[in-house]
Amino acid sequence: MVDRNALIDDLEAIVGPSFVAWRPEDLLVYEYDGSIDRATPLAVVVPANVAQVSAIVRLCRRYEVPLVPRGAGTGLSGGAIALDESVQLVMTRFRRILSVDVENRTAVVEPGVVNADLSVHVAPSGLYYVPDPSSQKACTIGGNVAENAGGPHCLAYGVTTNHVLGMEVVLADGEATWLGGETRETPWYDLRGAFIGSEGMFGIVTKVAVRLLPLPEAVQTMVATFRSLDEATGAVSDIIGSGVVPAAIEMIDKVTIAAVEPFYHPGYPPDAEAVLLVEVDGMRETVEEEAAHVEAICRRSGASDFRSSDDPVRRAELWATRKGAIGAFGSLRPNYYLVDGVVPRTKLQETMRKISDLAAEMEILIANVFHAGDGNLHPCILFDEREPGAVEKTIAAGERILEMCVEAGGALSGEHGIGIEKQAYMGLMYNQDDLAAMEGLKVAFGAGDFFNPLKVFPTGRNLHGAAYRGAIRKTGTGDVV
Ligand SMILES: Cc1cc2nc3c(=O)[nH]c(=O)nc-3n(C[C@H](O)[C@H](O)[C@H](O)COP(=O)(O)OP(=O)(O)OC[C@H]3O[C@@H](n4cnc5c(N)ncnc54)[C@H](O)[C@@H]3O)c2cc1C
Repeated sequence: MVDRNALIDDLEAIVGPSFVAWRPEDLLVYEYDGSIDRATPLAVVVPANVAQVSAIVRLCRRYEVPLVPRGAGTGLSGGAIALDESVQLVMTRFRRILSVDVENRTAVVEPGVVNADLSVHVAPSGLYYVPDPSSQKACTIGGNVAENAGGPHCLAYGVTTNHVLGMEVVLADGEATWLGGETRETPWYDLRGAFIGSEGMFGIVTKVAVRLLPLPEAVQTMVATFRSLDEATGAVSDIIGSGVVPAAIEMIDKVTIAAVEPFYHPGYPPDAEAVLLVEVDGMRETVEEEAAHVEAICRRSGASDFRSSDDPVRRAELWATRKGAIGAFGSLRPNYYLVDGVVPRTKLQETMRKISDLAAEMEILIANVFHAGDGNLHPCILFDEREPGAVEKTIAAGERILEMCVEAGGALSGEHGIGIEKQAYMGLMYNQDDLAAMEGLKVAFGAGDFFNPLKVFPTGRNLHGAAYRGAIRKTGTGDVV
């Protein structure tokens, strides 16, 4: 049994009393992330520098209490939720941009830097940081590294792992070490690559060296409206099949259109069933050519309305409905569960039909808003947690959707990670040998179950299983499951 009071005193001795939370009312805000699971940490500690992180790691090792890193808590798979009586280590005081090398187009930042702030900071030098999760105004670069985050503009340019050159990490022995470096190529094993996407289970990221890209000379944003989801998904395949790889291809369906209309007034045609947002960027001549090509394909595929602009203000308006979609869902139902699966692009149409059939069969409301260009689906199941059985029904629907994605030759996660949310489904894709090999990596990093325990790997039970008894309350039911 841990001596919690002694542990809290020792944590306060490292960071000061203002940066340790332990009262029940203070811990409430750290119980959850953007997913639908919750658990209360033993305590929360907010360090300011690497020496403090190292000291906290060593202290928690001594107390045999696990540590759960946390960025902004926008994760959608329960990654930052502290299971197993863990201490949560919050990295939001690490928010300095340490250096920018304009000539080499790189920067070194602390992990608590908010994603969008980096691009704003380097814009006067004509540069930007590509990965742009839709949560980019809140989520941190450290959280992005841990989840290997994607975003609308990752279709053409790649996800986080393609833009991170190296990281300083504090491992389970409390030592800080670099994986990768500040240059593009480092010899020997790619431990940087193994760490990115490890969901906080290998160590604490304390610095990140990133690649920056020059801002494109020209950008054209296009919005095409279709009378059927089939036409819209067909257009996605035709655009990519024609050889054009836009910077972004995003889709919203008719449930989403109904949600955003009262807030953003986009004025889509009344019979709109799906809206496709396509963006091309690069040299001016290429952009003009590709935009004309995209327009021709959309019109040929049945687009009933087509809007296009290269003006930054108008482009932001065109993006507003996509970027504001999730917030707008609150007008339809008080809760959402955003499922993150991926299918081969050629299976997009078929899978979207199946999801629509599932919604009808289970009598649930599903809104679709997703990165269509790379087959990354985000069916958002909208529900009211106060209705008896609604949470269970929502989880069952999410499971069916993930099964569909795997059956279609896709994967359990396009970008939000496995966390608590999908660990029970890992067996759909991996056998025991695969899982043992993956778990072996934790040993290789010397982490064991010290960092972020009880995540990602299946425990042999589903989310409601006894393995988590007493630890997870399902939102809204009030039940401990
Ligand atoms: C509205 C909305 C839209 C979203 N859109 C996208 C999207 O387009 N693309 C996408 O990929 N995701 C998206 N997300 C999910 C989420 O924003 C990302 O997963 C993001 O990377 C999480 O960052 P965070 O700082 O909030 O991390 P948290 O949620 O705090 O943590 C996420 C994981 O990272 C680990 N972690 C955090 N910091 C560190 C660190 N310093 N060292 C080691 N591990 C650490 C945690 O332990 C946890 O496992 C969206 C979320 C919301 C709410």
